[in-house]
Amino acid sequence: MRTLHLVQGGISNGDQAWLEKAARDGRNAKRWVVPKGVAVGDDVIIFIRGIGFFASARIKTPPFLRLDWANRYGAGLCGIKLIEPAVSVAVIRRTIPDLIWANYPRSITTPTPAIAEQVRELIRERRKVGAAQLEESDLSGANLDELRAAALLKRLPATASIKERLRREYLRSRSIHAYVLGRANGACEGCSSLAPFVKADNTPYLEPHHTTRMADDGPDHPAHVIALCPNCHRRAHSSKDAEDFNAKLIERLARIEPVGER
Ligand SMILES: [Zn+2]
Repeated sequence: MRTLHLVQGGISNGDQAWLEKAARDGRNAKRWVVPKGVAVGDDVIIFIRGIGFFASARIKTPPFLRLDWANRYGAGLCGIKLIEPAVSVAVIRRTIPDLIWANYPRSITTPTPAIAEQVRELIRERRKVGAAQLEESDLSGANLDELRAAALLKRLPATASIKERLRREYLRSRSIHAYVLGRANGACEGCSSLAPFVKADNTPYLEPHHTTRMADDGPDHPAHVIALCPNCHRRAHSSKDAEDFNAKLIERLARIEPVGER
């Protein structure tokens, strides 16, 4: 079994965008920061803070001292492949409690072979079942891509057990709400003002509002749910101009979350 290493990437330094492009175009990295002990052919998982396990790759060159970075080793990476949706640290902690690194995942590390196998299993499973892997307890710590993918999960066929179907429905509707609030990022999607207060769990207070009545043709979908401040939400339901106001919300939402985009 090849050794597996956990390495780091950033968002603001351009790593995320570069990895997306590299995965698409089949490009290799010349010198990623890696543990000193890597060998050609080893597996690496690239972790991005704020997102989670974002991509997998293989070590392509022996490690070398990086001249631009004191006491850091670099190595070439090949076979860069995105993990979609990326696995949030909430899911990593729940699934692999023995991976202590996940409590403070800021360093590069080489987990033990037993833990490495669990990391491989987690990523294999994510690539196979996607966001259906999420549990309800993951939602508060899930990343936006996971939430969006869970919000778009298909209903299970009638052949699945009632328990499974209900669980799926519940996960889906909770994910839609969590995704919409995450998408709003603390500002009302109706009037753009900041959320009026922060909740006890440290998240901004906004209310999800369905712009299409579910009884009509409105499927439960992120493109039909908007995050509103309490004022806008009351206005959408109780104001004299509620109908016009809702029409404006639908217009705004079409720009925020185009229906056709999956
Ligand atoms: Zn508002």
